[in-house]
Amino acid sequence: MSEVEPNEHRDAVIIGGGIMSATLSVLFSEVQPDWRIAVVEQLDEVGLESSDARNNAGTGHAGLCEFNYTPRRSDGTVDASSAVRIGEQFATSLVFWARLVERGALGPPETFIRSVPHLGFGSGADGVAYLRARWEALRDHPLFADMEFSDSPAEVASWMPLMAEGGRGDKPMALTRTGQGTEVDFGVLTRQLLSVLEERGGTVRMRQQVTSLRRLGAEWQVETRDRGTGQLRRLRTPYVFVGAGGGTLPLLQSARIPETRRYGAFPISGQFLRTDRPDLVAAHRGKVYGHAEPGAPAISVPHLDLRVLDGRESLLFGPFASFSPRFLSHGRLTDLPRSVHLGNLPVLLTSVRDNRSLVAYLVRQVTQSAEARMAALRRFVPAARADDWTLITAGQRVQILKRIGGRGTMAGFGTEIVTSAGGSLGALLGSSPGASTAVSTMLDVLATSFPQRMPEWASRLDRLVPSAQMMREPDPGRTTEEVARARRVLGLIPLSTSTRGKE
Ligand SMILES: Cc1cc2nc3c(=O)[nH]c(=O)nc-3n(C[C@H](O)[C@H](O)[C@H](O)COP(=O)(O)OP(=O)(O)OC[C@H]3O[C@@H](n4cnc5c(N)ncnc54)[C@H](O)[C@@H]3O)c2cc1C
Repeated sequence: MSEVEPNEHRDAVIIGGGIMSATLSVLFSEVQPDWRIAVVEQLDEVGLESSDARNNAGTGHAGLCEFNYTPRRSDGTVDASSAVRIGEQFATSLVFWARLVERGALGPPETFIRSVPHLGFGSGADGVAYLRARWEALRDHPLFADMEFSDSPAEVASWMPLMAEGGRGDKPMALTRTGQGTEVDFGVLTRQLLSVLEERGGTVRMRQQVTSLRRLGAEWQVETRDRGTGQLRRLRTPYVFVGAGGGTLPLLQSARIPETRRYGAFPISGQFLRTDRPDLVAAHRGKVYGHAEPGAPAISVPHLDLRVLDGRESLLFGPFASFSPRFLSHGRLTDLPRSVHLGNLPVLLTSVRDNRSLVAYLVRQVTQSAEARMAALRRFVPAARADDWTLITAGQRVQILKRIGGRGTMAGFGTEIVTSAGGSLGALLGSSPGASTAVSTMLDVLATSFPQRMPEWASRLDRLVPSAQMMREPDPGRTTEEVARARRVLGLIPLSTSTRGKE
């Protein structure tokens, strides 16, 4: 066995080099520039797991087109509060990124963000009625002010020709459209943020797999193994953040964190149909989100997206769920069995018992045929031909299971911040709504782990991010101007509503 290097001391150790860790490390370097911060990542490069552009849909989630944030009330109206909240969270991310661009720390912005219209798609009389109610609930809010609605076949066809070609018979359809939508390359952004940390004196170490996490007195000991040389290292720190994505729960379990002892985890892979055919790409200039299947989880909302992957434009349709027992794309086949023990087995079993429609949905997804996937695509693109589309695997999610009030719940469809040992350990479980909300989620991590330092840090944080309070009150005009400025700095040119009727 390799020799262990003498202990190194750091003021904060951050495990995992994804968008969450990268964001937190830059926030730390801002509020506490004298801290020695180390990020340890097991792969050869940072941002290669869920944050990589090929492993997520790249949607800047802002509530513009995702129906899961706008549930229907029993009277047929739509509750817009969650869409407004996620819109504010994404606006916080935009302001943070823009201020770093203005300082010359990040950028150029077109390397990680670009404008892509976001559209909602309602099909059938009920779907169209819902879409109209959704638009009526959102359009008066400043974050959704440019949203348009149309159920005119000619106009819908001019907005999204691919969705109109091939005919839909008499079935009505409608779209909402907003030019405020974005596509974000979270992998590139992760690498740029971690470069900011390094320029400010922080350390980012690759190929360092965290093999053990232990509480020793008032500190944490993080043991790493170099995946190339096998060299073992020990880092001591008063604060550790576990931002290991799908690897977080196993690390917390091995560290015997009491808050997570009874959690279970279940991995689901995402798959998409992809086409690079130039004429199809040219006929679909946006991200279009529709309705989830009954019983399906929010993350399975079908969408047809214009993307830029590997430097070229493509269309991706999905996600379809498939199964792999790995907790990370680069994980091990034994990840799932190793996560099950006597303490959390009942949580797994009750989650299956209490989420039957979800389980049935997952079984249907995993066993579905290529024809079934094409049928789902043809609900968006009636004339789609199987030859033009290829199935690709894109990312691994780990759904966190826990018991609430005796019932097994899939907590992983939200994001859960875990704080332990008097705030000396922070961790993030779950993956939805994900990377788009990294900034506000990491601000919450700071607030829950360091409540006593927040008053002292407030003025430094203000220089980088508007507070949640400011995003709402007391001056909505100032907030709107702040977001508009961030959009200008990031080069986000909204699709002008003045094009309406001219296309
Ligand atoms: C199919 C799919 C589509 C998605 N679409 C979107 C979207 O459109 N918009 C959006 O905002 N979000 C989306 N998400 C969610 C988003 O991708 C994630 O929320 C986000 O990338 C999570 O970032 P992270 O930093 O927590 O994890 P990751 O990016 O997974 O980073 C974790 C890092 O930790 C490292 N690590 C793990 N274990 C160890 C260890 N023991 N030692 C050292 N390093 C370790 C890993 O190698 C990895 O680099 C999607 C996710 C999926 C799966």
